[in-house]
Amino acid sequence: MKTEGRPTSPVAANMNEIKTVSGSKALEQATKLIFETGTPNRTGVDLPEPKGRASRLGSHERQGEIGLPGLSEPETMRHYVRLSQKNYAIDLGVYPLGSCTMKHNPRLNEKVARMPGFADVHPLQPISTVQGALRLMHELSHWICTLTGMPAVALTPKAGAHGELCGMMAIRARLDADGHSHKRRVLVPESAHGTNPATAVQCGFTVDEIPASDDGRVNMVALREKVKDGDDIAGIMLTNPNTCGLFERDIIEIADLIHAAGGYFYCDGANFNALVGRVRPGDLGVDAMHLNLHKTFSTPHGGGGPGSGPTVLSDALKDHAPVPYVTQTESGYDLVENKDEVSFGRMCAFHGQMGMYSRALTYMMSHGADGLKQATEDAVLNANYVQASLSDVMSPAFGGVCMHEALFDDSFLKDTGVDTLDFAKAMIDEGYHPMTMYFPLVVHGAMLIEPTESESKGELDRFIGSMRHLAERAKSGDVESFKQAPIYAPMRRLDETQAARKPVLRWTPPVETAEAAE
Ligand SMILES: *Cc1c(COP(=O)(O)O)cnc(C)c1O
Repeated sequence: MKTEGRPTSPVAANMNEIKTVSGSKALEQATKLIFETGTPNRTGVDLPEPKGRASRLGSHERQGEIGLPGLSEPETMRHYVRLSQKNYAIDLGVYPLGSCTMKHNPRLNEKVARMPGFADVHPLQPISTVQGALRLMHELSHWICTLTGMPAVALTPKAGAHGELCGMMAIRARLDADGHSHKRRVLVPESAHGTNPATAVQCGFTVDEIPASDDGRVNMVALREKVKDGDDIAGIMLTNPNTCGLFERDIIEIADLIHAAGGYFYCDGANFNALVGRVRPGDLGVDAMHLNLHKTFSTPHGGGGPGSGPTVLSDALKDHAPVPYVTQTESGYDLVENKDEVSFGRMCAFHGQMGMYSRALTYMMSHGADGLKQATEDAVLNANYVQASLSDVMSPAFGGVCMHEALFDDSFLKDTGVDTLDFAKAMIDEGYHPMTMYFPLVVHGAMLIEPTESESKGELDRFIGSMRHLAERAKSGDVESFKQAPIYAPMRRLDETQAARKPVLRWTPPVETAEAAE
């Protein structure tokens, strides 16, 4: 490791001086790759060879070694626990990743999700044996429809982006059913999440971008111009509050303009956590909107999953909803598995993410209507507290109050030599996961901070203190330490572009080592 040019705090100096034989540093255990730890022919289970079973794989049977690392159970456990300790988590500290809503996952959710009646059921069990699970799904649908002011919800989509796909497929099905297959243009604001245009294109629509106004909202002059000759308009995909953390004040007029052009209003509901209990999207003219249970309703994001993106649908679209869905009958609950051709079909094999439904409903019911509203208000208050406390040392992208996230641009770093990326890396050394950076694209060097309602004032003050210190250090001309950051992370600066463009997904034994061992 190169050490020149690093700032020398007493701790850093000591860390470089003392070398342990094991490579570990007390609780920070040195760990090898799992393939390097493993020994062939070792396994964590001890089962007899199966007897008298003929292969049913024909010529498709594996010929060579399977190549899995041979590990005992304790070795396996230690490997993954050590890896998890090199990672950041909401259970470790503030995780201010804007747009992603990294809020606390209450342990009560976990307790309920593990109840055998919810956890140990199989999607092919007879309906009469899963009445409780179906009731939970039905009740969750009721809460979702009530909170959004919408008549129907499709629970099955398994992520926000999957929910977008569900909503846009419903819109397409409705347009086609009405003989409007020429309507294929979807308006998408410049500040949209990347999944919006991707979804529209995936569904066979073309994307027409609407520029942002100087105050970070939809440019209404441009929008009115675009809908003038709107015969081919299928709809709009709009996030509210938008990705700048601002409420789209003209949302009712936007909905009216789109409806007058014969189009539908898809609202990206990823930021619904800024509205719950205060605003019902159904009252704003929304036709379809996904909810991210893993954002707004506190279910875990996991390592990119399992997510859940239930999608609410208006009266105009609800007949085209995907199957299956739960209905209440006189004798209990039933599943509609097949429907006439108006339903656009299925989004997944079974009923979606049951484990997320139980967690989300637990969150809703344990908060109650008043608690959900308070969570919304606290999230917005926290974001404004962060924005106000940093506005003299950092540069808020837009004036005025924000919703649930505070957006800064990089103008406060002008002429310092430090850029948004350096600043984010320095936050890692301070013990924080960086905020969302370089998104939304409409703001130069964007830094999008979403504290959520989970953080106490004390925790926010500590975070703000670190951010102020970093901003002042950048302005004082201390560029070099920013370029070196992170110093204390187990991995320092990775070549993220290279990793994305040329991912190495398969471990191959290093040839030299094998020879050296001979
Ligand atoms: C997170 C997010 C999405 C996508 O949701 P996933 O569950 O990650 O697929 C879409 N739009 C916005 C604004 C988001 O923040």
